[in-house]
Amino acid sequence: KKTAIVTGAASGIGAAVCEQLRHAGMRVIGIDLRHSDICADLSTAAGRAYAVEAALCLSENRIDTLVCCAGLGPQAEPVASIAAVNYFGVTALLDGLFGALQAGCRASAVVVSSSSATLQAWDGNPLRQAYLDNDEAAVQAMLAALPPDLAPQAGFIAYASSKNAVACAVRQRAASWGQAGVRLNAVAPGAVQTPLLEAGLADARYGEGIRNFVAPLSTRARAEPADIAALIGFVAGDSAPFIHGSVLFADGGIDAAMRPQHF
Ligand code: NAD
Repeated sequence: KKTAIVTGAASGIGAAVCEQLRHAGMRVIGIDLRHSDICADLSTAAGRAYAVEAALCLSENRIDTLVCCAGLGPQAEPVASIAAVNYFGVTALLDGLFGALQAGCRASAVVVSSSSATLQAWDGNPLRQAYLDNDEAAVQAMLAALPPDLAPQAGFIAYASSKNAVACAVRQRAASWGQAGVRLNAVAPGAVQTPLLEAGLADARYGEGIRNFVAPLSTRARAEPADIAALIGFVAGDSAPFIHGSVLFADGGIDAAMRPQHF
């Protein structure tokens, strides 16, 4: 039986991915804060190290699929935890489990980014560079020292920057992972009906923006977790052998409507 590791397995998109992969016949090992096979806090270096060690142990060092869904929304406090989970909690697992993926069968990994990653321009932004330099202290210092006009948006900036950087982290690894025969992609959802989205809608600072973050699609404004899980299952699986290093938007057209000339 093939083995999958899924972070954020206890809720939302991660839970739907677990169901999808189990349905496809895989053995799924979930990682989350609670209610999971491996209970670990991916916001801390110690929690990430424990998650990697436990995943290697339970999988016996052979992983076929890795899906990183664990994440915090822009409303989460403290702001530092958003970058810690959404970026550093992902790259620690990618790099820590890469060896076990190389031992897997036609192995691949998928990271959940967000279409909010493109709402701001990050080219040349020192915050993005600090992420890509793997300098967690510098990221946290920059988020804590935002200028007064940006400080009220700190949660959103932490969220969007972490989601942009994690997509770049996927693309940065495409050459080396490709050489090793392990595919790696990012999926960027728009608004998905999950507890994370509900918490954002209920937040006084970000609720209105999230309410307006809807797909320009007459059939539905938001996705269900299963819609995103279906795409992740496809991208991670044997039907997508040539999809590698890609950032696949599943946002009902939000990104296209905002940036029609960029792709
Ligand atoms: P969710 O809150 O339903 O699930 C996220 C899971 O991550 C939870 O089970 C939570 O416990 C886990 N998690 C949070 N912090 C953690 C930590 N420190 N250690 C371990 N696990 C932790 O949310 P969701 O909407 O299913 O989010 C899944 C991913 O999709 C996230 O990365 C999110 O940013 C991304 N995303 C969601 C939307 C949306 O509209 N819901 C849109 C774009 C991207």
